[in-house]
Amino acid sequence: MDSDRFDRLARTVAAMETRRGVIRHMTRVLLGSWVGFRLTPHPSATHAQDLPLPPLARAACGRQLYDTDGKPFRGVPIEAHPDFFPALDAIDQCAVTHGVEVEATGSLRDPNVPVRGAIVDPAEYSNHHAGHAIDTNVWYMNSAGDMQRCASSCMDGNNRPQAVTDFIRCVKAAGLRWGGNFRNPKSDPVHFDDGLNLSDPNAFRRKVADMGDSVECSACDPCNLETALCEDICTTGTCNTKSGVCEETTDPCDPSDTGVGQCR
Ligand SMILES: [Zn+2]
Repeated sequence: MDSDRFDRLARTVAAMETRRGVIRHMTRVLLGSWVGFRLTPHPSATHAQDLPLPPLARAACGRQLYDTDGKPFRGVPIEAHPDFFPALDAIDQCAVTHGVEVEATGSLRDPNVPVRGAIVDPAEYSNHHAGHAIDTNVWYMNSAGDMQRCASSCMDGNNRPQAVTDFIRCVKAAGLRWGGNFRNPKSDPVHFDDGLNLSDPNAFRRKVADMGDSVECSACDPCNLETALCEDICTTGTCNTKSGVCEETTDPCDPSDTGVGQCR
């Protein structure tokens, strides 16, 4: 089992409520390895009853909604990895600067990666799978003073409105890639991403996996957007991730216990 996969597994396990749930999950994972996932069982996890319960592991929460409130966005809600939020902020700023509105038509997508072993060429997969891409139409003000949609053929064509051209230039100057420059397999003029799959293939792979495992954090272990992990904020006691309440760690010994076993 590679370290990325083990880390993911550890986080999933740590988010579970019961020892029985952990054993059931690990059994599924180990069975998966026997039917062709190219996993090798962790040495200490060969027998379910010997499984470690990593106390510091945390759940992934990379799947986040970008807040478009008060910004020139319309269209579908934008789901992305928080590391892509600065790129979305740059798109926001470019839209404001050039007087256009961004109509999101797609963002995070599930990869549905076929099971064919652990080796995957990241270039085969879209940055949409890691939450690092967005597809948009652009609304601009036409000569009659009305807002008008510029969709794929408009964004790619020779008659692209100046404001849309300026917007695209601005987004590219902010460091993003524009799909209208893609030639392989073909131009994709509604697409913007930051090229994570090529600039950092390992981070890309990890994020694709984390997006699949992403959970809703609870009130007492909210999502840390810096790490994209749920983090326990209870100062006393421990977080009950189901209720979202910090629970005091109680003395396991009843005051009337006159002293048997560990309470002696
Ligand atoms: Zn796209």
